Amino acid sequence: MKQAILDMESYAKENNIPIMQKEGIAFLMKYIKANNIKNILEIGSAIGYSAILMASSNNDVKVTTIERDETCYLECLKNVKKCEFETKVSVVFQDALELNLAEGTEFDLIFIDAAKGQYKKFFEKFKYFLAPNGVIITDNLKFHGYVGKSETIESKNLRQLVEKIEGYIDFLKTNEEFETKFYDVGDGISISTRVENEK
Ligand code: SAH
Ligand code: MG
Repeated sequence: MKQAILDMESYAKENNIPIMQKEGIAFLMKYIKANNIKNILEIGSAIGYSAILMASSNNDVKVTTIERDETCYLECLKNVKKCEFETKVSVVFQDALELNLAEGTEFDLIFIDAAKGQYKKFFEKFKYFLAPNGVIITDNLKFHGYVGKSETIESKNLRQLVEKIEGYIDFLKTNEEFETKFYDVGDGISISTRVENEK
């Protein structure tokens, strides 16, 4: 397991795969343990690094992770097998925006870590599958330090992407259904919880 994780870290480095930063994944694992989280949905598996580590953070944690890129998906499956985590991590090969989850499916934690331009769509689609006390966690809200400085970015594509992340942060800040806390950990993480219904 330990070696498999180290191998994933070098594979990601060699192939430019943006896996979570060490500080970020450690924060997530601690959160999962402290809050007794059991069922996790991850959007954006890449090679399975964060899915496997989240699944390893406590005995009865189960992770369903979605990946649309075939090479990543196959690499992810391989890594899940290598760690003998087939019963803890299920990998779904599909575009998350096209996935149909069975009605009544519920997760304690939904982790958004896929295409940065689609964060709001992921949030709006998957919030219906969040358990009543569940949380939605989002990664890369600093986007390598570009967030908050979009007007200074020359590349149009990069600027538009960063503007989308800034828009998502505004969406979270002004959301009436969810309350969000932002953490300056790794590449920037947020934790959104449902606002208590009035009794
Ligand atoms: N969570 C991983 C890193 C994910 S990188 C880790 O920390 O180990 C983001 C991944 O999301 C990429 O592999 C990309 O192919 C995938 N992705 C992007 N948009 C997606 C979508 N709409 N549906 C499913 N996967 C998507
Ligand atoms: Mg990420």
